[in-house]
Amino acid sequence: MAVKQRKRAQEIERLDARYIGRGDEPELQIVSAAGSRVEDAKGRSFIDFQMGWCVGNLGWNHPDIVGRLRQFDGPAYVTPNAIYAPWIELGRLLAELTPPRLTRSYRATGGTEAVEIALQLAMKATGRHKLVSLAGAYHGASIAARSIGESDSLVHPYPNCKHLAPPLDDKAVERLETLLKHRDVAAFIMEPIVLNLGVEIPEPEFMRGAAELCEKYGTLLVMDEVATGFGRTGCLFACSHYGIEPDILCMAKAITGGHAPLGATITTEEVADKAKLSYFSTYGWHPLATEAAIATCEYFSRHEAELFAQVATRSAQFADGLATMPWQREIQLRIRGLAIGVDLGDEDYADKLVDKIHEAGVLVGSEGGTLVMFPALTVDPETTAEGLRLIEQAVS
Ligand code: PMP
Repeated sequence: MAVKQRKRAQEIERLDARYIGRGDEPELQIVSAAGSRVEDAKGRSFIDFQMGWCVGNLGWNHPDIVGRLRQFDGPAYVTPNAIYAPWIELGRLLAELTPPRLTRSYRATGGTEAVEIALQLAMKATGRHKLVSLAGAYHGASIAARSIGESDSLVHPYPNCKHLAPPLDDKAVERLETLLKHRDVAAFIMEPIVLNLGVEIPEPEFMRGAAELCEKYGTLLVMDEVATGFGRTGCLFACSHYGIEPDILCMAKAITGGHAPLGATITTEEVADKAKLSYFSTYGWHPLATEAAIATCEYFSRHEAELFAQVATRSAQFADGLATMPWQREIQLRIRGLAIGVDLGDEDYADKLVDKIHEAGVLVGSEGGTLVMFPALTVDPETTAEGLRLIEQAVS
């Protein structure tokens, strides 16, 4: 049986190379997932400390979401220019969960599109076309997102983007001012905790200063919470760590727990009324995806206090466990909620270590020279301890 299973898995790998377009080698052949575990086609079980890069925040196959989808008996499809009551219900939930000024949601199919909508809203509302983002950041896969993201070989396909280099401290506020002071920048976009730069945590002075500068120079502040949103950093949306309210906030990924593709861009009444943006996404907020998002939002509404108490305890467990491991390099541990970065200062070493940890049975990622982990917010203490023990084995 095991031999047959391995042969079948190898045959599928061969067919993947033939039929699926990719730029990188695939990692795993996943056949099933539940909670914090996934199983591959060769019958191996892994502890998932990556959760699809912040998609499975409630654990894979969450019963509340699965149950709701099973019961769904609504329409197969609703065209974007129709009115559909569950869209209004989801819009209301998003307005309730995000900072108070944000009430008007635009419908998207995922993170890239949510960012695209944010940029278009900012351009239309301000009448400006320049954008500022963080150097080396990631905001999605479209040409606009790659331009503001500046993270690959398609350098500056959209030329109106300027980049601010970290560290994000009080000095960076001055550098940001030189970029914004000509009053020609539509939007400053960033992740409030920068997961795509290996969990870079801005200083509060930077975030407050950036919000003030945006207000002063008429630039809209866009928080890309595609990865940080829905509890990843220990509160629902990471911008609230800093007490700032963006003009536009982007969501996707964990908004459906992985059960369906959906993105959302929420903004203020003022920005929406000024921009009058017509954005037609054929599959944006598909009825099934909307159902999954409503179930997710309702779960967060109902369980917020206990969930975040649990995240705080788990975060401390990860911090303690990781701080005392016999790392072969000087490390810097950056952790906020269950967004975890172990900066090893060595990209090659970090990549090799990811492979070793994977071999040991735990899924983690790397970003630059930083090991990154995004475990489920619901991961239990025993699975956490087992995963940490396996990581420690790989490290030593
Ligand atoms: N913004 C951020 C911060 C992201 O991490 C990602 C995806 N990793 C995106 C946008 C793009 O989202 P999607 O892959 O759903 O288009």
